[in-house]
Amino acid sequence: MNKELKLPANGSGNRERMIVITGAGGFIGGALARYFHEKGFTHTRAVDKKPLAEWYQRVRGVESLCLDVSNEESCQRVCEGATEVYNLAADMGGMGFIERYRIECLRSVLINTHLLEAAYRAGVERYFFSSSACAYNTDLQKDPHVRPLKESDAYPAMAERGYGWEKLFSEMLCQEYWAERGMKTFIARFHNVYGPYGTWDGGREKAPAAISRKVIAAKHSGTPRIEIWGDGTQTRSFMFIEDCLIGIDMITHCEDLIARPINLGSSELVSVNELVDIVEEIAHVKLERTYDLGAPKGVGGRNSDNSLIKQILGWEPNTPLREGMGKTYSWIEREYLASTSRQPLDEKQPKTLLAFDRGRSPLPVSLSEAFQGRGQEQPAR
Ligand code: NAD
Repeated sequence: MNKELKLPANGSGNRERMIVITGAGGFIGGALARYFHEKGFTHTRAVDKKPLAEWYQRVRGVESLCLDVSNEESCQRVCEGATEVYNLAADMGGMGFIERYRIECLRSVLINTHLLEAAYRAGVERYFFSSSACAYNTDLQKDPHVRPLKESDAYPAMAERGYGWEKLFSEMLCQEYWAERGMKTFIARFHNVYGPYGTWDGGREKAPAAISRKVIAAKHSGTPRIEIWGDGTQTRSFMFIEDCLIGIDMITHCEDLIARPINLGSSELVSVNELVDIVEEIAHVKLERTYDLGAPKGVGGRNSDNSLIKQILGWEPNTPLREGMGKTYSWIEREYLASTSRQPLDEKQPKTLLAFDRGRSPLPVSLSEAFQGRGQEQPAR
């Protein structure tokens, strides 16, 4: 069933205020730029260090800058005239990436260090920081039958090596910019985010996209096998991108959440094996599974305790995994087929629908279309 995009009232107000989004060439930042554009904001500045041609989404009417925000001068430029800053920039990826490139992950601390200071000096009213469930104490996440993580579980600290510690330290920076200098900062601990226009190949992709790609590749190559990282019993929850955007907006405009880290994730827990079941069902295939026990698999289990977000916002991410994965799978399949040239993309999408510049593929007229219409398509068998 199509679901109307729920746009919160909280983030309304003056739609001419300058919104800056860093990491806007990536998955969540790109979607956020489009989200604000569709809400009618007229002054949005999107920033990423990637060349513009490589951005996943570019929104017409949004100022798009190719700048490295781990650099102090760039941060000053980026924050000029800004009212709100949303920092989605980080060197990150799935377990394969964050276990292999800890230094790159840790060096993202430069982004927050310079961006916070530049935002403060520019008189920014609200600063949003995208933290992660990887900031939580890993000792609490060994068992697949994990107790959902609540916000206080980050301390005593034993974060994920590299990536998690950077998030925890940057959270602290945000908290001190409020405590010492009075700049309003907002911190969401994302639990795995997935959806259309996310990374689905190249080594930085996360489980929902990686499994979708593997199932698609198996289906289209006629090799009915899939390799799974770990033994498949590890558990996670996965949040659909649409919920993530709404959550970012609500959190950043909630005075009760200033400098207070909060979970932003789904509480629908599944094992990796169950996630594969869902994707197989969407693809109408059944694959032989092999398990790579030496591959990076992360913690044994992780889920989001949503008591705080429900109490403060009266809302929690609520897109069922099966629904979100259907939309994600359809999008990845189109990308996959386009990249392997087995089915020209133009056959599927009339050019008249295109309203945005393209990063990797044509984009639909509206966010709702991206999340609704396309998800209804059933991939060819
Ligand atoms: P992404 O990799 O798709 O996007 C991040 C973007 O940041 C990339 O386009 C990258 O080029 C850009 N970037 C990196 N360093 C930069 C720099 N120095 N200057 C400018 N741009 C730079 O990742 P995403 O999934 O969109 O994640 C966005 C944020 O959410 C990150 O902070 C990430 O740690 C956090 N997060 C994401 C997830 C998830 O499941 N996707 C989970 C937890 C936290």
